[in-house]
Amino acid sequence: MRPASSRRHPGLLALALLASALASSCAARGSVQTEPRPVSSPTAAAPGSAIPSWSRSEASAFDWQTLDAIKAWLASVDASRLGHFRGEARLKLGTGLMGIDPTASESVRADRWERAAEQFSMVLADPDASRDQLDRATELHTIAQRGPKGARSASTTAAADTIAPLPGLVRRGAWAKAPPIASRLNRIDRPFTEFTIHHSDTTHRPGPEGIRRVHVDSERYGDVGYHFLIGPDGTVWEGRSLRYQGAHAGEGRNEGKLGICLLGDFEVARPTPAALRSLEQLVRHLSSELDIPLRAVRGHGEVKATLCPGRHLQRWVDTWRRG
Ligand SMILES: [Zn+2]
Repeated sequence: MRPASSRRHPGLLALALLASALASSCAARGSVQTEPRPVSSPTAAAPGSAIPSWSRSEASAFDWQTLDAIKAWLASVDASRLGHFRGEARLKLGTGLMGIDPTASESVRADRWERAAEQFSMVLADPDASRDQLDRATELHTIAQRGPKGARSASTTAAADTIAPLPGLVRRGAWAKAPPIASRLNRIDRPFTEFTIHHSDTTHRPGPEGIRRVHVDSERYGDVGYHFLIGPDGTVWEGRSLRYQGAHAGEGRNEGKLGICLLGDFEVARPTPAALRSLEQLVRHLSSELDIPLRAVRGHGEVKATLCPGRHLQRWVDTWRRG
């Protein structure tokens, strides 16, 4: 394995150690969701001890007092020790935020639902979350992301939010260690019209979380810049929500472009058959779900001057476009 190129992506090099550690947990399809959870970690629930008062209230009986009590508890030292209750607290808080005061204006409610989605994301990223908590958080996160009015009236957001799920897709909430920073993101204001194909340009294979951290911490993006990422074993990770414009094609060039990144350096190596199979399946799926022309696929280097996605992956792009 040769060192990562610091010339082209200096930010990735800085996080290489962290990223390689994270990559190991992302190596297998769905590994983030299927890994066994530790049963006796020091922060696991201590059944029968220190049961927080909020845990006795029913979700249907939420009021601001209860939600404030949960928030206060989450900021307390108990929350860092009691993993089981931490998960329950976030699930309750998120559910409460979605259910409380349903007569509030739509924008107020939309904001609460985004905060609810953040709570569910944190459960999904919590190593102490139980299988049952992960299942509930996955379901609630999907609902929260749709917002209080479900599929919104604007056709662009409705199209992005209501697409049929891709089999085997690893949802963002299952791998990302932090929720998106909504204030740095732009909602799409026109439908996607083409795909832009990238490579991650590193032999360190940092995995989606390593890339997300570089994009958020170094580039100051609101989330990982790509809408989807694909691993060498064919794993497809959901990246930035399709509700938001990507940050991948270059300044002022992202509108209408759905960004897909294959992990690897394809100036040097060839993409694996598994990765290309997933790429083709993903492009076909999104093309039919979002009405993007099937052959409207360009390599990043065709959008701006860059070696991305590497000559070996660009060859796939050229072949695909010919049909
Ligand atoms: Zn690129």
